[in-house]
Amino acid sequence: MKEVISLSKQRGFVFQSSEIYGGLKSCYDYGPLGVELKRNIMNEWWRSMVHEREDIVGLDASIIMHPRVWEASGHLAGFADPLVDCRNCKERFRADKAPRAQPGSDVDYTEGGKKRGKPLKGKVGERGYVCPVCGSPDLSEERKFNLMFRTSLGPVDAMQELAEMLAGKSLPAEEIRRLIDEKVKESAVYLRPETAQAMFVQFANIQQALALKIPFGIAQMGKSFRNEVTVEHFIFRSCEFEQMEMEYFVEPGKQKEALEHWKTERLNWYLRYANDGSRFRLRRHAPDELAHYADDCYDVEYLYPWGWGELEGIASRTDYDLKKHSEHSGVPLTYFDQEEVDPQTGKKGYRFTPYVIEPAAGATRATLMFLLDAFAYDNPRPDSKGEAKRRRVLKLHPRLAPYKVAVLPLVKRDDMPELAREIVRQFFDAGINAKYDEQHSIGKRYARHDEVGTPYCLTVDGDSVKDGTVTIRERDTTAQERIKIDEALSVVRKRLEKV
Ligand code: ATP
Repeated sequence: MKEVISLSKQRGFVFQSSEIYGGLKSCYDYGPLGVELKRNIMNEWWRSMVHEREDIVGLDASIIMHPRVWEASGHLAGFADPLVDCRNCKERFRADKAPRAQPGSDVDYTEGGKKRGKPLKGKVGERGYVCPVCGSPDLSEERKFNLMFRTSLGPVDAMQELAEMLAGKSLPAEEIRRLIDEKVKESAVYLRPETAQAMFVQFANIQQALALKIPFGIAQMGKSFRNEVTVEHFIFRSCEFEQMEMEYFVEPGKQKEALEHWKTERLNWYLRYANDGSRFRLRRHAPDELAHYADDCYDVEYLYPWGWGELEGIASRTDYDLKKHSEHSGVPLTYFDQEEVDPQTGKKGYRFTPYVIEPAAGATRATLMFLLDAFAYDNPRPDSKGEAKRRRVLKLHPRLAPYKVAVLPLVKRDDMPELAREIVRQFFDAGINAKYDEQHSIGKRYARHDEVGTPYCLTVDGDSVKDGTVTIRERDTTAQERIKIDEALSVVRKRLEKV
């Protein structure tokens, strides 16, 4: 993980946000290489979800939605995770994420959670968990905390109005709090904590505009925001992140079959791009883990350096979301099938609220996962001083790699740069991201491109100018071969087509 974080910074994948000002907790910027990788991941998702399917369409909804959306979805009331403070090491954590322990059992931990701290003994409380950092059972009560970012819409200056309203008044703290909440609520809007809700809210518009027949899906990718209590593991969990979500609407009773399909489909999607398939698994949620509206759920999990963790959730959400929005808005969100027989009446013509299967993935989390999966060292090779050295290489799938090919003139003269630029132009014309690179020795340039995952390097030398051939070097094998310049385009293309 440390290596991936340092490579990310050194090579321009991910920087800490506002670093020159000391950085901002849990905010990250995707640099020149990172933006390419993240976009490639998202474009691949879009391609497999929307472009390659007849039954799924796309949506790009606004991040700020009507506040009643969040009332209906339960986020305003329930988007609250119980938070707990550890009295021993002062860590604040989510109760639902804490390590489980048998109530009443004995546990050992150290004072302050320090390695050489005084050894302490305690008993696990009724709630059945301990501090995830120091293992202490000495914990505060659980408190609720809303994870949505609140802001205000419109020119109303609620704070000024409040200041005027409260000036000179002596009121108890609870009354002031109530007045503030009331005032702020008038213009309050929220940054979406997930992309999913827009697909439910626009269900009827989309279904009608495109005359879609069930089963069909609506896909959306984009930013989401959660004021996470624990931000951890670099870009794994951050407050601003990107999601790729799809809502697949089916007839009631067909959800099991659809969930089966999507859980396999989504796991296989990752496996197509990954190097080490053994680090992926599907984990079914235990009944007590399921959200109250879900009738089944699987997570695609990845074996991160700190253990198995969620990559994507595939939930069978029943008709909960459409029904809730229908209730709160007063607009029916149902589907009418003329041909289908209504099981209640036994007659043709069936109106129902569709059931939903939701594969919900994180694009920024997937970016971290693909960096971890691709990170490797090549075999030790002698450097310029003859010392054996291991070099870093990112074995990214060619479709995810920021640059597909680097074109390198051996030296900066004798028409080599001109020819190299011409080759780059051919790749650009074919819609393939190529990189012209002439700085430093050829060995250093190969190493630099290995580190950012460029699958192919084309070296233009003196002979290239005469006979139209170049050396193609493959990242993973470092094998080099002499080929014709126009073959290069087809070699790279072939690898890009194979997913
Ligand atoms: P977790 O249990 O890890 O908090 P979640 O179950 O709350 O995740 P969902 O609401 O199911 O997550 O969101 C779907 C996906 O969005 C997750 O699988 C993850 O990939 C991504 N995601 C959720 N929260 C974050 C975050 N704070 N930072 C980065 N990615 C996130």
